[in-house]
Amino acid sequence: MKKAIIVGAGPAGLMAAHKLAGSLDVTIIERGRDISQRSCQVIKGKECIYCNVCHVTAGVGGAGGMSDGKLNFSPVIGGDWAEFVSPQRADELIDEVDRYFVGHGAPPEDPHVGGSDLATRAAANGIEFIPIRQKHIGSDMLPRVIGSMERDLKARGVKFRLNTRVESVIVENGRATGVIADGKRIKADYVLLAPGRSASTWLGEQMQHYGVPIRYMPIDVGVRVEVPAVVYEEAVRTNWDPKFRMYTPTHDDLVRTFCTCPYGFVVQDTYESGVGANGHSQRNCRSQNTNFAFLARIALTEPLENTNEYGSTIAHQARTIGGGRPILQRLGDLTRGRRSTWERLRRSYVEPTLKAVTPGDISMAMPHRVVVDIIEGLDMLDRVVPGVASDATLLYAPEIKFAAIRPETREHFETAVVDNLFVAGDGAGLTRGIVPAAATGIEAAEGILKKIEK
Ligand SMILES: Cc1cc2nc3c(=O)[nH]c(=O)nc-3n(C[C@H](O)[C@H](O)[C@H](O)COP(=O)(O)OP(=O)(O)OC[C@H]3O[C@@H](n4cnc5c(N)ncnc54)[C@H](O)[C@@H]3O)c2cc1C
Repeated sequence: MKKAIIVGAGPAGLMAAHKLAGSLDVTIIERGRDISQRSCQVIKGKECIYCNVCHVTAGVGGAGGMSDGKLNFSPVIGGDWAEFVSPQRADELIDEVDRYFVGHGAPPEDPHVGGSDLATRAAANGIEFIPIRQKHIGSDMLPRVIGSMERDLKARGVKFRLNTRVESVIVENGRATGVIADGKRIKADYVLLAPGRSASTWLGEQMQHYGVPIRYMPIDVGVRVEVPAVVYEEAVRTNWDPKFRMYTPTHDDLVRTFCTCPYGFVVQDTYESGVGANGHSQRNCRSQNTNFAFLARIALTEPLENTNEYGSTIAHQARTIGGGRPILQRLGDLTRGRRSTWERLRRSYVEPTLKAVTPGDISMAMPHRVVVDIIEGLDMLDRVVPGVASDATLLYAPEIKFAAIRPETREHFETAVVDNLFVAGDGAGLTRGIVPAAATGIEAAEGILKKIEK
């Protein structure tokens, strides 16, 4: 039987393994822990407390494993699928991913389907509202779903090598023949790299080493916004994760909402060059607040095309200003050009759900352009979601979506230069979300299956 190595046990890697199991001898190599050993939250009495030092982006389930588990079933969310597959194929992939998740315990119903009132109000204010089919698993339920996938894959012969970091891909005569992990050579006929956004730089280095052309994709930089849940109530009743997009008046930059966590918790995220904010919401444990990412899109051309490098400088500067913690500021303090302090925050009626922060001044850490985009964007959004731009609104900074390095690929995401080397998911700059990452895993696996049929 031919051998396949999949690097990364995120949604892309797991879904690819699901497709390949039985047809190939499949090994998933994952640098993180098993899902059962990835704990992010403890419940004390009625309180939900986050440890903030958990393995947010590494381990079985990938970044998706400890995520909020919002499944967005749309070809325009989480990456533009039109670049890769036809609309009909995108719908087929969406259905297949949905069935797979439901088969492992995700809720079958779709309680939150877009409504039109919000869309009308948004349109009247120059904002695009994208109503989509969504499902919310919740960060408390998602580990069970991932655990069920893992057990099923093992039962079907897929091997998991955990706590093992792949250092490099082996390429001989223009063809991938295995990987080096923990100093050992592991042979394979096919290699699929699905290492996620946190290892995108590593993926880019591998590609450059073997002469595969790469492209730097735009990054998203901004803040995590936290408001009382009542402010966002109507929006989340319409769509659990309402997607708003707008262009700001001064810079004409694209700003969007992303990863809304109704009744959720802000959590710390860790980047290679600093710390940032992210969010969770659960099915069984609720806060009084709703949080969402509010991000400006940044694309660069010459002389610096490397958007990740730029994002890293922002993360680094924020870490310096925040003393190693995310910076927290009230919107009213930001617009008046003064830092927030614990005393000012205490006067506010919005209680931050993340306490391990440094009250400060976001404008000391983030580019002026991004700060203007955030202020103007929230002002626009306030006309659709009244109260979102109140003085008491909390902003945690930075939130950076390192959008990754995209290698040039052929059909089914086989790299342009190296045969039998495939890529999938966020790390290859193809996607930004669980459903699309899983879909690219299916596509790459089908490419491998086609090759073994030849
Ligand atoms: C806090 C948080 C909340 C999120 N919430 C949502 C949400 O609600 N909905 C949604 O659609 N998306 C969400 N996302 C994004 C989503 O999790 C990702 O888009 C998705 O997981 C990408 O899947 P992937 O398989 O491409 O990569 P990942 O899920 O990142 O998985 C890649 C895996 O590869 C492993 N790896 C990397 N390098 C190596 C190496 N060299 N050797 C071995 N293993 C390696 C990593 O440890 C990781 O486990 C969230 C992300 C975060 C961080």
